[in-house]
Amino acid sequence: MSATATGTIGGATQASGAKHTVTMIAGDGIGPDVAWATKEILAAAGASVDWEDRIAGKEAFDAGYDTGVMPDTLESLARTRVALKGPLATPVGDGGKSANVTLRKLFEMYGNIRPCKELPNVIGPFAGRGIDLIVVRENVEDVYAGIEHMQTPGVAQCLKLISHKGCEKIIRLAFELSKAQGRKKVHCATKANIMKLTEGYLKRVFETVAPEYPEFESEHIIIDNCCHQLVMNPEQFDVIVSTNMNGDIVSDLTSGLVGGLGIAPSMNIGDDAIMFEAVHGTAPDIAGQDKANPTALLLAAVMMLRHFKDFKTADTIEHALYVTLEASIFTGDIAAGRPAVGTKKFTETLIANLGRKSAKLIDRGYSPIEMPKVSTAPDLVKAPKRRDIGVDIFIESGMLPMEFGTAIEKVTTGAALKLKNISNRGVQVWPTAVAAFDGVDHYGCRFFADPRGSEVTDEHICDLINLLCGAGFRWMHMEKLIEIDGQAAFAKAQGES
Ligand code: NAD
Repeated sequence: MSATATGTIGGATQASGAKHTVTMIAGDGIGPDVAWATKEILAAAGASVDWEDRIAGKEAFDAGYDTGVMPDTLESLARTRVALKGPLATPVGDGGKSANVTLRKLFEMYGNIRPCKELPNVIGPFAGRGIDLIVVRENVEDVYAGIEHMQTPGVAQCLKLISHKGCEKIIRLAFELSKAQGRKKVHCATKANIMKLTEGYLKRVFETVAPEYPEFESEHIIIDNCCHQLVMNPEQFDVIVSTNMNGDIVSDLTSGLVGGLGIAPSMNIGDDAIMFEAVHGTAPDIAGQDKANPTALLLAAVMMLRHFKDFKTADTIEHALYVTLEASIFTGDIAAGRPAVGTKKFTETLIANLGRKSAKLIDRGYSPIEMPKVSTAPDLVKAPKRRDIGVDIFIESGMLPMEFGTAIEKVTTGAALKLKNISNRGVQVWPTAVAAFDGVDHYGCRFFADPRGSEVTDEHICDLINLLCGAGFRWMHMEKLIEIDGQAAFAKAQGES
């Protein structure tokens, strides 16, 4: 797959009014209810869409597809490059992977865009404050890459991979989206104060890229403060860009600010495919009972129409939704004690309101997002100078720190690498002791070249591992310590000098 401009995904450059083929995945639970409602409303509004109905989720898992996606669904999306998707049931614990994640990853839909906008007459603690913000979440990297290993029978590890390319793409996407929607301010929310290399990467790239978009205010914010500010003063936010896990959490928080999952749409975007979906799950408690709120999927479809440049039909549907809610016609999830209607009645009323205008709906003057163009080369970043100067070897041991450290030092005496310190879950426990040790059988042993500063070779590391194995120590993981352009490219343990 090659990088292209957004304008070409799924025929977005076609003239307004041209017919668009869309892969429709109704999904599980309430999926068929909300998909039905959305199709009815789009048809009544005159949207030029041909649906290709396809299957993912429970039926695909039951048919033996571990990815949760039927092959003809993948084939359809590879061709149409645009999907509208209802919720999919994900197996919990062991078993198949999430079908949602499969779709996002196979088509490298690296950006997850979640608008959060107050709707009329929806009661909540923040109603009336005019919240209208967007969370832009990196969608494929971070701990969601799912690279996990049991390190010992009692210690699990998950790799958090953050790349320069991933950061650059999501940050540029956030700025391009801001342009397309006439937004004014972009916050980059990270945990860079703790994870300086990974979360800090997003911050550093943000600070490099932001000056290319001088028309926007840009500001970095620590993610926990961002959550606090979102609850205290949400109106200050316009666009928030974040890494995968933080973005996942913060975007659920923002959905809650304006009335919950039943009204929260989202879109997954990449260079090759785009998938519009509701944020909510399959809601098994109300599935098939004519109780589901179709607003989230409908608003996702409205985003899709804007992607097709069919601004007129998108506006017509959004106005009809506002008029319906203003007339106090709601499904139970947002009725807050007021009389509620079922999915069918809500849909019929909304269709009857097509063509009516709401005075409350502010036109943002949408335009299609210009997709950022970032090189597809895997080795995008080249360092002029790079040297291996040491190694962290992680060893399983039930010994106490001082006893363990003395033993490792003794076994490795005379090696080309010298033991500098030992940590347990990131805290240095040798050569200096911690005040209160309550560790686990997972020690990180940090070795540097001896003399310090000289270069380490793979042969040195193999010799070191042979010494450790020969003395009966079990290692389970190793990381080279490198210097990039003269700077140490690894974190220090807590307490390490
Ligand atoms: P959920 O979103 O399905 O339900 C949470 C609560 O919100 C329930 O009380 C439900 O009735 C209500 N709700 C959700 N959407 C609603 C709507 N449109 N109208 C009215 N009420 C609505 O979350 P869950 O219970 O944690 O998850 C159930 C299943 O959905 C799980 O298998 C989970 O993996 C899956 N899931 C899928 C997606 C997706 O496909 N994008 C997202 C989240 C969860």
